[in-house]
Amino acid sequence: MNTMNIEQNTKNIAIIGSGLVGSLLAIYLKRLGHSVTVFDRRPDIRNIEFSGRSINLAMSNRGWLALREVGIEEEIKKIAIPLDKRAMHIIGKPQYYQYYGKSGEAIWSISRGVLNRRMIDLAEKSGATFRFEEKVWDIDLPKAKIYTGESEKGHWEEYQFDMVFGCDGAFSRVRHKMQRRSRFDYSQDFIDVGYKELTIPANEDGTHKLDKNSFHIWPRGKFMLIAMPNLDGSFTCTLFMPFEGEVSFENITSKEAAKHFFNTYFPNVMQVIEDLLEDFFKNPTSAMVTMKCYPWTYWDKVALVGDSAHAVVPFYGQGMNAGFEDIFKLNEIIKKNKDDWEAIFKEYQQTRKPNADAIAELSYRNFIEMSSKTADPIFLLQKKIEKHFAAKYPDKWIPAYSRVTFSARPYSEALAIGDAQEKIMQEVMKMPNIAEEWDSRVVEEKILSLL
Ligand SMILES: Cc1cc2nc3c(=O)[nH]c(=O)nc-3n(C[C@H](O)[C@H](O)[C@H](O)COP(=O)(O)OP(=O)(O)OC[C@H]3O[C@@H](n4cnc5c(N)ncnc54)[C@H](O)[C@@H]3O)c2cc1C
Repeated sequence: MNTMNIEQNTKNIAIIGSGLVGSLLAIYLKRLGHSVTVFDRRPDIRNIEFSGRSINLAMSNRGWLALREVGIEEEIKKIAIPLDKRAMHIIGKPQYYQYYGKSGEAIWSISRGVLNRRMIDLAEKSGATFRFEEKVWDIDLPKAKIYTGESEKGHWEEYQFDMVFGCDGAFSRVRHKMQRRSRFDYSQDFIDVGYKELTIPANEDGTHKLDKNSFHIWPRGKFMLIAMPNLDGSFTCTLFMPFEGEVSFENITSKEAAKHFFNTYFPNVMQVIEDLLEDFFKNPTSAMVTMKCYPWTYWDKVALVGDSAHAVVPFYGQGMNAGFEDIFKLNEIIKKNKDDWEAIFKEYQQTRKPNADAIAELSYRNFIEMSSKTADPIFLLQKKIEKHFAAKYPDKWIPAYSRVTFSARPYSEALAIGDAQEKIMQEVMKMPNIAEEWDSRVVEEKILSLL
């Protein structure tokens, strides 16, 4: 395993939250020589029997980079499946593939539960202490004291630390305390689309029912279904659909209605999900939120990392990746500033905030694009031109998706370049006969002249 070549003066540090971000941060802070205790309100997920539902997520370049730095990339790759392409399922067309780009570029499907368990194991192995079923109710920010207990009104345990990291997710208690201070900015925006997870079980021999190295998408305009493979041969599907309206969760209230819905829009999925109708009504419909706040730190005592600082809608598959990148960057800043934690926290929040805002914006735009633009012929033509040009001039036109997913350049740069590309395309789309001449030399010259 890598060592970090730097040891700081040992601090007694609390991490609130043993999710993906909290457990990775524990590994980093142990490598730096600190004493680390991780609190979580949940029981230890390693001892909970698997519920049968496997929720997965996509790890991409930024996530891997953060794992590589502490020498655990290969270990985690063993529990992930590479997806080198999208498999598109369009009604009335045979399934077709869209490769992600240069050969070898892939996103990786990984079960959230399996990953989290492994990360907690690795953090424990590094020497971090975990305290499960201890919910943090309050925190004294200037003193770095935390208070845990069974209930808000019951007896609280008091703990004194040198420093506290809030990795307690989108509805963070630590942030909640910071919010009560003057000049703390905070916003939360729910979208009107919800999601529900469904499972495609494995074949009897344990193989996958669909191509296992693809990210499967069934786009249907205002709603869509996606599926990612699990190691046990199953797929986790996510149905994204408006809460209310003509085709919506609100309007599917009976098994008959659900059957009709899947038969109409997802006939090939209907055949492979055995317990589809059962799952549909058993599994919850969940909401998605963008949460922004600032500052992320309090003196040299408290810092927010991951979703507690910046929750984004999942349409770029970057929430966890962004949280892991927070830790990777924080570590770089620590190396530079050694024991000056006030300077470390200041630089951390100043440099990460614009990037968190950028991935929030990119994720939200992807949601709009998927839900309202995919049926627009002008939009589709523009995408076709961009793809054609990018294939011909891969060094001159890197699509925003690749900049976000397969690069480690700042998210804010991906957003800015994406905006500049959009401006160019608006000019191109004004060209006469663009629909007929979209792949002509004239269009190519025009783009080259505007670049
Ligand atoms: C549908 C969906 C799909 C997604 N897909 C992707 C994807 O493909 N790729 C990707 O990178 N990201 C994805 N994400 C985002 C990703 O799930 C999050 O960004 C990531 O889980 C954030 O990790 P975290 O550790 O910051 O927070 P969390 O995972 O929310 O963990 C917070 C932890 O804190 C604990 N906690 C909370 N409050 C307290 C308290 N008061 N006291 C003690 N403990 C507490 C919780 O029990 C929990 O263990 C997706 C999100 C959703 C909703």
